[in-house]
Order: sequence, then C-alpha cells, then structure tokens
Amino acid sequence: MNSIDLGGVGMTSQRTRERLIERLRERGIDNERVLEVMRVMPRHIFLDEALSHRAYEDTALPIGYSQTISQPYIVALMTQLLLAAGPRARVLEVGTGCGYQAAILSQLVDQVYTVERIKPLLAKARERFRLLGLRNVTALHSDGGLGWDQHAPYDAIITTAAPRQVPEELLYQLAPDGLLVIPVGTDDGQELRVIHRQGDSSHFEEEVVTHVKFVPLLSGVAR
Ligand code: SAH
Repeated sequence: MNSIDLGGVGMTSQRTRERLIERLRERGIDNERVLEVMRVMPRHIFLDEALSHRAYEDTALPIGYSQTISQPYIVALMTQLLLAAGPRARVLEVGTGCGYQAAILSQLVDQVYTVERIKPLLAKARERFRLLGLRNVTALHSDGGLGWDQHAPYDAIITTAAPRQVPEELLYQLAPDGLLVIPVGTDDGQELRVIHRQGDSSHFEEEVVTHVKFVPLLSGVAR
C-alpha cells in the first residue's frame, strides 16, 4: 500500500469532498477505511479537465470512448462488499476505465491487477497511477472476460462492466474462499452479484445485492 501525495490538488474544496462522504454514509457505506480512502483520493484527476468541477458529485461521468467513470456510491459499495469477509491481498479488476476504482483498491489491498480492452483508456489510467505513485497497481491491455491467468489465483475479482452471464474463467481464477463482485445482465436490467467460492471446492454461493447500470462487458480488444 502507498500513500497519496496530495500536493497541488487544493483547488477542490475540502467541503465538497466531505459532502460526498456524508452522502455515502447516508446511503449505507459504513466501512471507515473505504470512506477514508474515498475522502482522500483525488477523483478529479481521473476526469478530463472540462468535467473535473463535477468530480465530487455522486454520479457517473463520461470518460470518452462511450465509457464512464463509475458513480462514487457504486465504487464504495463494491469495495465494501469486496472487503466484507476480511482482508484481500491480491485483487483483479476487469474494466480499468479511467483507473479510479483500481486506485481506491490500491489503498486497501496488497496488489491490484487491472485489465482494460480500450488501449488509449489504459494508457491514460497508467499515467495516473504513475502520477499518484501507486506502485501496487499493474495494468494490462487485454480482454478481461478471460481474466488474467498469469497472476491468478486472486482473493477477489471485481468487474466494472456487465456480462450477460458470469464468465467461467473468472470463477476459475478465484483463490479458495475467493470472492467475485460482478454486475450481470443487459441494458434492460442488471443485478450486482457477490459470488463466494466455498473453500477450495468448485461450489459457489451467490447473493444478489442490488440493481445497477454498468456499460456492457465486450469481448476482444480495441486499439
Ligand atoms: N473501473 C472504472 C469503470 C470503467 S467503465 C472506474 O473506476 O470508473 C468499464 C470499463 O470496462 C470500460 O472502460 C470498458 O472499456 C471496460 N471493458 C468492457 N469490456 C471489457 C473487457 N472484456 N475487458 C476489459 N475491459 C472491458
């Protein structure tokens, strides 16, 4: 884990950020470590300048290439779910996007591996990880529906794009007692699921948490 250097980001008023954290609390986020990381992480760095003034609103925003930065509440919720059953050392994220979710995770787990299929998005995210000094985030341009076999198994996998069905590869890459946090469905409706591998068996318990709206998980990569 590393600490964030906040030099030069004072232009976003502390009060705006505090208001966001209060809203997350009101909506049921109660993991204090998650709230603290969300309070400190500069979300405006993950947005284009034209939108950075809206960075601390609790809303998804466009990041180009028809993709979005996730809503802070959803990032907090998925992170809280991922940590609910105890610490997780190695985590895979599918769908790096701008890199915000990966950056939040980097402060809460040992190693973050993250995979993005759109090359320019990945390049920008990598640049932000470097800027923020996040040395425990490793990013790859690839189809994350296949997971990232090289670093498996993972204590947890989080998917920030929605497949129609849970990709089996992701289940196979879970460590014993590993957890998969994943939105599943179509544009007409998706549910956020937490899938828990039972010990080292190939049995999985599934819980539906809430309804969500993510961009679709697409296969293949884009240049
Ligand atoms: N994690 C981001 C959310 C990004 S939106 C955040 O913190 O805000 C979801 C991202 O998933 C998009 O950038 C999209 O390109 C990517 N994606 C969709 N299908 C994918 C796939 N098969 N493999 C990797 N990334 C994928």
